[in-house]
Amino acid sequence: MPFSRLEVEFFEQLAVMDERLAAAVAAARCPHCEGPLHRSNYERKPRGGVLCGGGEGAYLRHSLCCGRRGCRRRTLPPSLRFLGRRVYLGAVVVIASAVALLQTGLREASKASGVPVRTLARWGAWWTNDFACSLTWSELRARFASPTPNESTLPLSLLDRVHSMQGRDPPLAKTMTAMARHLAAVTTTYGRTTQFVRDVFAQVVTA
Ligand SMILES: [Zn+2]
Repeated sequence: MPFSRLEVEFFEQLAVMDERLAAAVAAARCPHCEGPLHRSNYERKPRGGVLCGGGEGAYLRHSLCCGRRGCRRRTLPPSLRFLGRRVYLGAVVVIASAVALLQTGLREASKASGVPVRTLARWGAWWTNDFACSLTWSELRARFASPTPNESTLPLSLLDRVHSMQGRDPPLAKTMTAMARHLAAVTTTYGRTTQFVRDVFAQVVTA
């Protein structure tokens, strides 16, 4: 699959979906005490590297804080733009890691993606060690027809599969939106994971 630059419109669409996710989490109230959840968003300035430069800039990371005295705990809604606490956009973590598996060496992958070699190596280990053992992956894997995407070549194997499911010659943005939805549950400590994200977007489609 070809990797083209993801433009600002793509990240704007993800921002709208992140707002939808945050609203749904807030409506479900505090997972610890069922108190009201208030917005306590904070600013992030994610990096986009070579292929996602259009997504750089100031972003609000949605965050919620329980309003009940004695609890006040923070709840982080799932996000399509961020993959955990990394300084790079989630799309960069996926694409640059896939490029690293396609290239002959991390140095070439670093040049192509604009992500330092050391960071690429760390992400590679995360995909095959941490992500491959995560609840998100075991739920996701069960949804694909056999043979399931190869765990030793994540996220490239997953990306190829998702890409092939988007119709004929889909734009990269379409594939990456689907990927972001699949991976959203891994970005947060919020308890109700994969099914919650699917339910929210099922509402978007029918709205
Ligand atoms: Zn609470």
